[in-house]
Amino acid sequence: MKTLIYNATILTMDKAGTVLKGGWILTEGDIIKELGSSDGKKPEGVEAEEYIDARGGIMLPGFVNTHCHVSMVPFRTMGDDCPDRLRKFLFPLELQSMNRELVYLGALYGIGEMLLSGTTTFLDMYYFEDEVANACLETGIRGYLGETIIGQKTCDSPEKEYGGFEYQKKFLEDFRGNDRIIPIIAPHGTTTLSPEKLSEAHDLAVRYDTIYTLHACEMDYEMSHFREMGQTPIEFLDSIGALSGHTLAAHCIHATESDLSLMKERGSRIAHCIASNTKAGKGIAPMKDADICGVPFGLGTDGPSSGNTLSMFDQMRLMPNAQKTKYHDRSLFSAERVVRAATSGGAEALGAEHFGSLEPGKKADLQIVETESVNMFPAYNPYSALVYSANASNVDLVMADGKILVRDGVLTALDLPKIKADLLHAMKPFMAAAEEYRDII
Ligand SMILES: [Zn+2]
Repeated sequence: MKTLIYNATILTMDKAGTVLKGGWILTEGDIIKELGSSDGKKPEGVEAEEYIDARGGIMLPGFVNTHCHVSMVPFRTMGDDCPDRLRKFLFPLELQSMNRELVYLGALYGIGEMLLSGTTTFLDMYYFEDEVANACLETGIRGYLGETIIGQKTCDSPEKEYGGFEYQKKFLEDFRGNDRIIPIIAPHGTTTLSPEKLSEAHDLAVRYDTIYTLHACEMDYEMSHFREMGQTPIEFLDSIGALSGHTLAAHCIHATESDLSLMKERGSRIAHCIASNTKAGKGIAPMKDADICGVPFGLGTDGPSSGNTLSMFDQMRLMPNAQKTKYHDRSLFSAERVVRAATSGGAEALGAEHFGSLEPGKKADLQIVETESVNMFPAYNPYSALVYSANASNVDLVMADGKILVRDGVLTALDLPKIKADLLHAMKPFMAAAEEYRDII
């Protein structure tokens, strides 16, 4: 199937930053075949089965969300202002009430939200991760998925600690070689597993040549724990051999300049989650320093209970605002640099070269953001329009892996009201269990 989309301002996000005004793109199957400019008209001599007029919209690669726990939809808006809520109610309620069905339906719902906001690839770590994989297979999105490995009982390994290990090993084998499901290793964090288990998990990432992602330099108690040991969390990871080209550290709010140099040296990357970091009052990660050091980074929404929306537009807006404020420098992080972080930068953070930019031979993962709505006029600079003016409601079309999954701002293959109704029904016991925490949530 060949599809030709024309009459768009195409931000290719290739290395040279090529922009095609009045541009067109031809996709065949799941691959981009050709791009060009034709004054917004249908190009002569380019044949396709389907022709789509982008009506002067902005075309860019699909967003790459580098850190998420998509199935946490049932927790959204619960205890948003409660300090230390992870230990006060999130962990206990997860253990008590999270189950296979909620993970699956939460993932379907959250993936619907991601597709509607232009995301075509996301990284996820949670429980019953094979259900997230099933939701990815059904919806057409690309997922880098890891079962959470943590040193405590969990909802899917209630009998013993570190059940996630066995789960993950099976998951790795089950989805090995799948084109759209990439199994990764996801130990929870620097203090929630023993050093031995963190290191063992890293060995697994090396053996399967995949990503090793965990929460790092995020929590105050994490920082004081390592301070007492005379180390930073990054130095600790390095000391156990878990800082490498496989490592994608989420948050890194408190990373020092020497941590960042070490990460650069080891080839590690960062998933920057500004909405989640600032909603919790944890701090603003030193992304200017990371950029100067040359540590690749992408943006992440975090879970729907941490950053609340799964829209990368929110991340793109907050990220430069926070960096400019932190460093008192308006010139930091141009809108183009921010769009790069949300697209090709995210792909680089995942170690992927086959998507993240619009170039012949790459995966047909793209989106069109319309410029007709009230908030999108004028749009002198398309990058600025995306970062500072646009929101998820401006996403008009999304193609993931060559398939159109959003058209005219509507999901083509998912019945979101039905998914929502099923999810709400499945949430009843969860909501009843949450009553126990009524005072703090
Ligand atoms: Zn997280």
